[in-house]
Amino acid sequence: MDSIYLAKYGEIWVKGRNKYIFENKLIDNLRENIKGLGEFKIRKNLGQIIIEPLSLDENYEKILIERVKNTFGIIGVAKVYRTKDKNIENIKNIALMHTKEKTKDKKLSFKVEAKRADKSYSLTSPEIAREVGGYIYDNMDNLSVDVHSPEFVLRIEVRDEVYIYSNLVAGVGGMPVGTNGRALAMLSGGIDSPVAAWMIAKRGVEVDAIYFHSSPYTSERAKQKVIDLSKRISKYIGNMKLYVVPFTDLQLHMREKCKQEALTIIMRRIMFKISEAVAKREGAYAIITGESVGQVASQTMKSIYATDAALDMPVFRPLIGFDKDEIVRLAKKIDTYDTSILPYEDCCTIFVAKHPYTKPRLDRIIIEEVKMDKLEEMIQEAVEMIEVIEIKRSELQ
Ligand code: ATP
Ligand code: MG
Repeated sequence: MDSIYLAKYGEIWVKGRNKYIFENKLIDNLRENIKGLGEFKIRKNLGQIIIEPLSLDENYEKILIERVKNTFGIIGVAKVYRTKDKNIENIKNIALMHTKEKTKDKKLSFKVEAKRADKSYSLTSPEIAREVGGYIYDNMDNLSVDVHSPEFVLRIEVRDEVYIYSNLVAGVGGMPVGTNGRALAMLSGGIDSPVAAWMIAKRGVEVDAIYFHSSPYTSERAKQKVIDLSKRISKYIGNMKLYVVPFTDLQLHMREKCKQEALTIIMRRIMFKISEAVAKREGAYAIITGESVGQVASQTMKSIYATDAALDMPVFRPLIGFDKDEIVRLAKKIDTYDTSILPYEDCCTIFVAKHPYTKPRLDRIIIEEVKMDKLEEMIQEAVEMIEVIEIKRSELQ
């Protein structure tokens, strides 16, 4: 008997003939995500992934589970006892030992769930559950049986070998990153945009980030905050690039030439144009933002219409129908919230008008925008001056 880790995946199941592409990518991503924690053999086995530690420091066990659970595509992970001896007496003994270890002397209700993937096995799934459940019940006096909502569930899977485990840790779900192309997320340092980036990456998209920096109006600390946020989401997304765009000159030019009330929308249009240029250069096919309808002046229907008209590429706004408290809940779940609420100014708060248009008319915005006679060349210049920061998946944590 030894211990291994069992990783379960979900939606890949719907993928018919191409399934193996998704499975292989998921295995590659897992391998990458647990790099540095030890040596592992990772393989598929009947729709599950087996992670067999060849060497694993005990202190890293928790981190291993954490990393596997945070890999998009994974719906559950468990540390599992494995035995090759399928004799029911052997299974009973391991099951009892495991249950004792896990429940100690706590008074709990329990049930045994058994699955027989090996159809040649002499007992059916319900028979295995009954035999093992009865044996545990007879040998422990702190447990009562509850098949509907038990506090402790012991799982047994009989395959080419037998797995015995109890705590299946829920995974983040989604699709393996790298199976659905690449997108570029506009990351501001606020609460919303990291959540938006996370949501699209969750669907298997490789995500890089772009940040518009208005030095010296925005401090180095504001930039550092965006770097920190990128690191936090890279825990899920994997290695990524953060493009830092020098934005000040464009903003000053815009402020000099255009009507105050139009600045917010024009600024957002320019951000989109630059993001699109970078995305095209880097092989990304969509832009991601953290906008949600009605949250601020630039997120009304007409504002969104007027900003979208600035580019041809699709803009993904996964939070479009979310309330702020729903976004906050997600931000806490993915562990970006604490960083997002640090009080460093972003470039929008410095150059915004007191009373921006909330119902901008596209034609009027364009009349203002064309007053920026140096717009095209300045956009080119900004793209050329971009600083690229390589974000590596966070070190051991
Ligand atoms: P967030 O919480 O993500 O900052 P927000 O509610 O503050 O969003 P805005 O400031 O209007 O809304 O920004 C809307 C979206 O535009 C952001 O979610 C982000 O995707 C993008 N964005 C705003 N400012 C920047 C910036 N300085 N650099 C990159 N992207 C930005
Ligand atoms: Mg913001």
